[in-house]
Amino acid sequence: MNLEREALSAEVVRGVLSGLRVAVGFDVHPFSTDPHRPLLICGQLFDGPGLDGHSDGDVGAHAISDALLGGCGVGGIGDVFLDTDPRNKGADSVGLLREVVEITLQRGFEILNVDLTIISEIPKIAPARAEMAQRLSRILGAPVVVKAKRPEGLGDLGRQKGAAAIASALLYSSNPTKEL
Ligand SMILES: [Zn+2]
Repeated sequence: MNLEREALSAEVVRGVLSGLRVAVGFDVHPFSTDPHRPLLICGQLFDGPGLDGHSDGDVGAHAISDALLGGCGVGGIGDVFLDTDPRNKGADSVGLLREVVEITLQRGFEILNVDLTIISEIPKIAPARAEMAQRLSRILGAPVVVKAKRPEGLGDLGRQKGAAAIASALLYSSNPTKEL
């Protein structure tokens, strides 16, 4: 009897585990030479210069979007929002992230958690971490942790030429499609 119950619970656990998807997203943008371009990271406005890019250059929102789209099997942010599309010029990346969340949910995935690291010498992220995490958590409907790492002067990121971000996301579907 116990053996049967154990076999059943092992099967349930296997079923749950087979629906999990872990995904990583990475993004990097150079700082703009335009002193008036706003600096947005995870939708948080910092003192500039802003990050260059076809959209608003929000590395945090882009890294999370890439992780979610990878996890639900769509690909990356560039597969959904083409940088040749004039509609995406100067796009609000938090708005794009909301669309990515919709796509993820439509594909039958629940977002379990997201962990984000911003890699940049400037701006100082730490005082805004909690607010950024709360905003993202509301958008994703899941716990989000935002961390910041300084590149310690190494490379172009260390010379304040740009900012990068890495996100990991854990997704779950009770019915993951075979092709993923
Ligand atoms: Zn980007």
